[in-house]
Amino acid sequence: MFTIKNHLEIENGHLTIGGVDAVEIVKRYGSPLYVTNEERVRKNFRSYQDAFPEADLYYAAKANGNLTILKIMAEEGAGADVFSDGELYMALLAGIPKKKILFNGNSKSDSELLMAVMTGVRVSVDSFDELRTLSSIAKSEGRVVDIAFRVNPDVSPQTHPKIATGLKTSKFGVPHEEVIRAYKEALDIPGINPVGIHCHIGSQILNITPFAEAMNKMMDLVEQVSRLGVKLEFVDIGSGLGIPYEKGIRVPSTADLANLILPIFNERCVAAGINPKLILEPGRYILADSTVLLTTVNTMKEAAKKFVGIDAGFNLLIRPTMYDSYHYVVVANKADAVAVDTYTIVGPICETGDILANDRELPQIEKGDIVALLDAGAYGFSMSSQYNGRTRCAEVLVQKGDVDVIRKAETYDDLLSNQVIPARFL
Ligand SMILES: *Cc1c(COP(=O)(O)O)cnc(C)c1O
Repeated sequence: MFTIKNHLEIENGHLTIGGVDAVEIVKRYGSPLYVTNEERVRKNFRSYQDAFPEADLYYAAKANGNLTILKIMAEEGAGADVFSDGELYMALLAGIPKKKILFNGNSKSDSELLMAVMTGVRVSVDSFDELRTLSSIAKSEGRVVDIAFRVNPDVSPQTHPKIATGLKTSKFGVPHEEVIRAYKEALDIPGINPVGIHCHIGSQILNITPFAEAMNKMMDLVEQVSRLGVKLEFVDIGSGLGIPYEKGIRVPSTADLANLILPIFNERCVAAGINPKLILEPGRYILADSTVLLTTVNTMKEAAKKFVGIDAGFNLLIRPTMYDSYHYVVVANKADAVAVDTYTIVGPICETGDILANDRELPQIEKGDIVALLDAGAYGFSMSSQYNGRTRCAEVLVQKGDVDVIRKAETYDDLLSNQVIPARFL
């Protein structure tokens, strides 16, 4: 037995996850299959918390919104960053305390704002317009809602453009030069209690210096906002720490991030004579490497390239198509065999862009082999679709050799659910 990547091991030539043989689990639960190692999820959460012992961690529910995952987060003491009414519903159902839920979003509907007011969660307000709408909703319900403003700090996170969220031109947040005016208005209008400040600069960030820039800009604002008479209970710096999708690359750790931003946060709080709570909102770091997507080879083709046609495409894992992301590939039933050829792994979707892995050196692949796509736990299942009439696969949770189904595979009925046939077609 030896380790192939992180917690993933090879035993008798097979990939194993959480003490379970990948080939056996596909035989039993079908293919494709998302397999999550509970122990790894908890370990990732705890290592983040260890690096930031004084901070609250709000798990970003969009990374993986499965109710069981949210319950694990609740057990670990996490709060939640939610971005929709559905995520809010799920986070509350999972038992995450309402005071540790921050409702984010750049285009919340009036009914979502009403839901925030009635459930008593905190709202990260994204614009002046939203502030005014929220105020009138809270006022008409006779409630007061705790808010932060989402700041656009104008910081380049040096990541894929589609996951850079804190650039001046990004759709998120109040431009930093307008933030003071926003708090002034928040102090004046009814139903609004400003208690925090929030930003989030992007995701899969591997050079952490932009976090220092963001923290400094945020603390400039924190000082000015405090001088207005706002008692800030929290400073939420968002998330974005990247993970090593490619085997062997060195990436900054949670400790590196803490060593970079905690001194800035602590010193500037002392200087300003304030004591707000630091909040971080990790998603990817907690879930990504806990999960593999197991797939089966349907067919092989030698053309301009050697194509491996598997049974999962961007319907189940859209990251390679959407963000040009890299996922490490293991042939799970030949996990210790030597690489002999260069393969391109493609899905079954009727789109040229349905490529999961390009030009990989792998052992001899044949029909029926089990191809594992690693680090699929964040923005994997949560971004899946039924495109091309493909039912979504099951998700299972493994823990020290035990397996629990945490989502059943869809059936044709699920393709039809909510479709209504007008009488004249019956
Ligand atoms: C997506 C998101 C996160 C999580 O980012 P990761 O890079 O997955 O850790 C945190 N906060 C907000 C506001 C987000 O939109």
